[in-house]
Amino acid sequence: MKTDRYSYLLSRVEKPGRYTGNEYGETQKDLSTVDTRMCFCFPDTYEIGMSNLGMKILMGAVNHLDGVWCEKAFAPWVDMEALMRETGTKLFSLETGDPLTDFDIVAFTLQYELCYTNMVNMLSLAGIPFYAKDRGEEYPLIIAGGPCSYNPEPVADFVDVFSIGEGEEAIPELVELYRKCKKEGLSKKEFLFKAATTLEGFYVPSLYTVEYKEDGTIASFTPDEGVPAKIQKRIIKDLDKVYYPTDAEVPYIETVHDRIVMEIFRGCIRGCRFCQAGMVYRPYREKTPDVINACARECFDKTGYSEMSLSCLSVSDYTRLPELIDKLLSWTDEKKVSLSLPSQRIDAFYEELMEKVMSVRKSGMTFAPEAGTQRLRDVINKNITEEEILSACRKAFDGGRNSLKLYFMNGLPTETDEDIVGIANLSQSIVDEFYSVKRPGRKVEVGISVSCFVPKAFTPFQWEKQDTMEELRRKQMLLRDNIKTRKIRYSWHEAKVSHLEAVFAKGNRTLSKALVEANRQGQRFDGWDECFDYEKWCGIFEAVGIDPAFFANRKMSFDEILPWDHIDCGVTKEFLIRECKKAYAESTTPDCRTQCSACGANKLGGERKCCR
Ligand code: SF4
Repeated sequence: MKTDRYSYLLSRVEKPGRYTGNEYGETQKDLSTVDTRMCFCFPDTYEIGMSNLGMKILMGAVNHLDGVWCEKAFAPWVDMEALMRETGTKLFSLETGDPLTDFDIVAFTLQYELCYTNMVNMLSLAGIPFYAKDRGEEYPLIIAGGPCSYNPEPVADFVDVFSIGEGEEAIPELVELYRKCKKEGLSKKEFLFKAATTLEGFYVPSLYTVEYKEDGTIASFTPDEGVPAKIQKRIIKDLDKVYYPTDAEVPYIETVHDRIVMEIFRGCIRGCRFCQAGMVYRPYREKTPDVINACARECFDKTGYSEMSLSCLSVSDYTRLPELIDKLLSWTDEKKVSLSLPSQRIDAFYEELMEKVMSVRKSGMTFAPEAGTQRLRDVINKNITEEEILSACRKAFDGGRNSLKLYFMNGLPTETDEDIVGIANLSQSIVDEFYSVKRPGRKVEVGISVSCFVPKAFTPFQWEKQDTMEELRRKQMLLRDNIKTRKIRYSWHEAKVSHLEAVFAKGNRTLSKALVEANRQGQRFDGWDECFDYEKWCGIFEAVGIDPAFFANRKMSFDEILPWDHIDCGVTKEFLIRECKKAYAESTTPDCRTQCSACGANKLGGERKCCR
């Protein structure tokens, strides 16, 4: 095995299977036939990274290119990192075990802000300088993509080029350009200029100059000559025709999602005003049932997984769901493949379908009302009434379920104490609904999980501030004190973690020095309770002269230059301002099927009919 050379480490770590690679279905190529080597880096543990659909899609798409081999690497857990540092072992890929410095391209997927320290730490472990300006021709090209690239600025100084939007067509184009430039003997700088000016959807931070005002806000953001002022995200126009991985790797250790994952559509028709995914993945596009079914069957034949889940933002929005379920059930039942349908929307139609899918019958269900009062649900544009929530719960109870999980948020714009108490009241009404009819021998359990609002780029709430930590904590305790029954299980997210997330979600380029200092102080795995250290973060910000409240707790004005203004995700600023004003007027916007609200996303990739 190629990672045998690391046996001196593997026998001493908690889960050696994280570092051995060699999975069933792993792509192997003959290095003598390969002219370009890429290493796809997931800045979190193996178990999380191997469950990531985007990683499977992008690695597969690149590995389809002849002469190019895309390998993978993950953030080593703290025990492995300590040993690597002790023994001077450089971060390596799992396929060949070669150090990252042997690769032409190192690609990071940035799934959420709290993985930034892991990205920096992976560069450190690889012996690659953090700052793009410090990396000469001898170092790999560092590329990045994923949801965080909609505000790439906190890590912009580290990355040579960002892929904005959907990558399965764009990344192979970038790799091909890289190969061409390499053959022609062009420098990294020349390649980057070509990437920014001849390909669509690529942002090269070094080609833009940012200037700041005295108050810390952005004075100007200027592209070099010939470089586009705005970078428009890429989208896949026809999901039926694009590559989808059917021969995904099957890991030897248990991962978070150890199953077949079938993507059925992209985008969202709903328009919740706090939700970044609902905005940046627009427009809504579906795959057809035949294509999904054929793909699912191929995945099963090649991997042998006994579980399959459908991937999308809310399964009940798929227009041909009954047809798709019938097609899938026509063979999954016989092959004993259990099917799960993720949905956080509550409707009767979904309940009926769930009854058809044996594997999920009577298991727990999750709903996301997000706010406890109708007023606040209108503010956030969660178009659902209390009666609809109670009626769906009633159906779930009548169908034999005893437990429900509900997701809420606190700290939402315009929120008052009445809205917080409303979460307790709504949860109580659900418990009362269960006991409103006799259900002999049954007890109900309503779990409520409350996260803290984090304002995100490209949402109507992007200008908002987050509540201070003290205020978030006060609200968390207010809710706890208003829950009167043990049948409601209440859990909440740590406000300190959400605060750090908000700092980086709304941050600008000045934050790169905080990330470098965080690495110097040994900070990583911020998304993990056992590693997150808020007090240390306070010291880090102080050491580099950054006030985190400037990003997290300051309301921005509509005319301020936002750190992400040079990115075009399709949805226009005019639409977001309109939606923000409607939120304050407690006025709702219909979903895209009821009425188009002219968000701008239909203009992407040429004028198109939007949201069937
Ligand atoms: S253009 Fe209209 S239909 Fe399309 S995503 Fe925007 S609001 Fe929805």
